[in-house]
Amino acid sequence: MAYATPLEARIAKKVTRAIAEYGLIDDGDRVMVGLSGGKDSWALLQVLDVLRKRAPISFSLVAVTVDSGYSGYRHDLIARTCEARGWEYRIEHTEIGETIEDILEAGATPCSLCARLRRGVLYRIAKDIGATKIALGHHLDDFVETLLLNLFFSGALKAMPARLVSDNGEHVVIRPLVYTSETEARNYAKESELPIIGCCCPACGDLSLQRQRIKRLIAELEVEHPEVKNSMIRALGNVAGRHLLDQRLNPLPELRDAALAGGAVPLTLRRVSAG
Ligand code: SF4
Repeated sequence: MAYATPLEARIAKKVTRAIAEYGLIDDGDRVMVGLSGGKDSWALLQVLDVLRKRAPISFSLVAVTVDSGYSGYRHDLIARTCEARGWEYRIEHTEIGETIEDILEAGATPCSLCARLRRGVLYRIAKDIGATKIALGHHLDDFVETLLLNLFFSGALKAMPARLVSDNGEHVVIRPLVYTSETEARNYAKESELPIIGCCCPACGDLSLQRQRIKRLIAELEVEHPEVKNSMIRALGNVAGRHLLDQRLNPLPELRDAALAGGAVPLTLRRVSAG
């Protein structure tokens, strides 16, 4: 079966690569797709549906939308579209928006609390409907922007995993769009004629100024170095732990053993030993 368009073929290839490299989907999986109605989640649902029909393994899909309760949120469009395309779906109406207003401290940004609350709802529904994987629409740009945000503003060298087992071991979160760019996801959702809707959160748009700044920085770099994002995503899979300063990766006793085995004792270690 041929792909509908060259863009669909390109995205399907990238998603297949991610699935194979990180073991994202297995035979018999029931994959719950977090569907906000934004371009990324629509693109994810669409490409997984295309792959499901072609894959040598059998898996099912169910789209789950967490409505935070903001007025104007067009969950009706999500329902109508899923019905028209024969996609199983569930819309969970919540009061997350109000809860955030109640418990957020003045001046704090709501996004991480919002993400935690929504994640909790997704976990609960996944259990309810017997989902074995929870697929989220984070794409390549999200990965590299998160890496730089943490690097520049949080003092941590981390991005996000393509496959994550929840702390209690009950859920597996997957991100099949890890190799798909934001532009590809946007164009794919549009060419697939999916109704892209906003979350209607009052904070949306003006909150992540740092992320916007990072986006601009990457865009500027790309003018001269078009491969910069691909280089960053490759870097996330090519970590040289011994060339970092994290002593959890390079514990002192190992350094001492190496030095005793014939290498030079680093100056810092000499000082630690002397102290
Ligand atoms: S912008 Fe609004 S909906 Fe989006 S994560 Fe932040 S608080 Fe949640």
